[in-house]
Amino acid sequence: MATATIIDGKRYAARLRAAIAVQIAQLKADHSLTPGLAVVLVGDDPASQIYVRNKGLQAREAGMHSFEYRLPATATQAELLARIAELNQESAVNGILVQLPLPKQIDPEAVIAAIAVGKDVDGFHPLNAGLLAVGGTAMVPCTPLGCLMLLKDYAGPLAGQRAVVLGRSNIVGKPMAALLLREHCTVTLAHSRTRDLAEECRRADILVAAVGKAQMVKGDWIKPGATVIDVGINRIPTPDGKGRLAGDVDFASAVEVAGAITPVPGGVGPMTIACLLLNTLTATCRQQGIPAPDVRPAAE
Ligand code: NDP
Repeated sequence: MATATIIDGKRYAARLRAAIAVQIAQLKADHSLTPGLAVVLVGDDPASQIYVRNKGLQAREAGMHSFEYRLPATATQAELLARIAELNQESAVNGILVQLPLPKQIDPEAVIAAIAVGKDVDGFHPLNAGLLAVGGTAMVPCTPLGCLMLLKDYAGPLAGQRAVVLGRSNIVGKPMAALLLREHCTVTLAHSRTRDLAEECRRADILVAAVGKAQMVKGDWIKPGATVIDVGINRIPTPDGKGRLAGDVDFASAVEVAGAITPVPGGVGPMTIACLLLNTLTATCRQQGIPAPDVRPAAE
């Protein structure tokens, strides 16, 4: 019998977007400002097209301007950098996101570094990563920011809790660890070379899994009552050939042990786009010298 609280990220994200929309309406009324988000897509990867469409749709629904730029899969790095340079200068654009992955002829690090730091709403620019690490005012990557919001609501006071982050990527694992450290957790960052991963996980009051391996974290890796955030998005085969999405956590066994857990889909995923909108609002305010609002999800 399932015991854990299921963390409904989809519903939480909808409430967060509603709160963002209220703040945007306020920004328009008080300062005649409408945040603008530019999304750049290179090539025609089907998953990326869906992500880009959803980002534009949700930005418009929140009351933002949404600008979409498409470059062919054959675009050169110089062409993409030229587009970014234009967007850096464009005053109607407050946030710039380049959809990853990029075609192989383009170096993603060079592209990320070319985005104006204040418009880097993905929070991937090395300067923003550095600011987060040293505790400065940074743009925080959207996925870890969304995970932190859920943890603040579902894991109780974070200070002093043992947190284990599985995965050390620049877009999820490392910034997640930095955020939890900022909240005074005792943080372990585990990865593919970690010895006895299961034992590390069993010590965690908070476990964030971001490895990209379907159902790797089993129920007996989890401390009873722990809060489990599953970032993984993996497609696993089904008999009908369509496949289905699964996280990095084996939900069926984990739900028996955890205190609270995010499902996949419907957990972290929707929070990522909501936090992109939040970052765009924050970026707009900072660019205009207006205090960025402390946006909390609207009441249910
Ligand atoms: P990366 O592939 O960049 O990083 C994976 C990390 O997991 C690496 O640090 C790697 O270790 C570690 N790892 C891989 N295999 C193992 C293993 N067997 N044991 C322990 N550690 C392991 O992935 P991302 O961080 O980009 O993404 C992780 C997952 O999250 C993916 O499923 C992705 O689709 C999903 N994701 C979901 C988002 C959302 O909005 N919900 C947003 C972004 C990602 P090492 O460094 O040693 O190689």
